[in-house]
Amino acid sequence: MRCEVCGRKIHGKPNRVIIEKAKLEVCNECSKLGTGFWEEPKPKTMIPTLRATPTPPRIQAKKAPQPPMDTALELVEDFNVKIRQAREKLELSHEELGKRINKKVSLLRKIETGKMTPDNRLATILEHALKIKLIAPAKEEKVPQAKMATAAKRELTLGDLIQLEKKDKEKEDSAGRKPS
Ligand SMILES: [Zn+2]
Repeated sequence: MRCEVCGRKIHGKPNRVIIEKAKLEVCNECSKLGTGFWEEPKPKTMIPTLRATPTPPRIQAKKAPQPPMDTALELVEDFNVKIRQAREKLELSHEELGKRINKKVSLLRKIETGKMTPDNRLATILEHALKIKLIAPAKEEKVPQAKMATAAKRELTLGDLIQLEKKDKEKEDSAGRKPS
């Protein structure tokens, strides 16, 4: 490290001074000529680490984990209405029903207003307590499967076309050759 003004070797840290608007690293002697000091811009390494690069969205969505229970059984759409009507029919208050099935009144209210969906276990408990049907077997998804099949067929058709082209070329090739 040499002084940018006199060219002498600088021992230790150079003096960062401004001499005639120029940022220079100079020796102690030449630093006296400076009209001010300047600081080397700090490396911005800290900022990105502090900002913590946002974790890229994980591709968990692709996995689409579906509990087997949910696919087998489905809650009826108007479960909340059914529960309320059944409870009123039995002339039970939220409190009374809650006591019967050992559940919180607030929970029952939420379910009846549709704010909450009971899980299969709770739905089963409610079914028994109110003598209603809340869980029905899930609709068979034959339609999407059929769609998928046709989509696969289309892809195959495209692939078949390429295959056919290849075969035609092969035929031409073999036709060109005279059998020995
Ligand atoms: Zn100098």
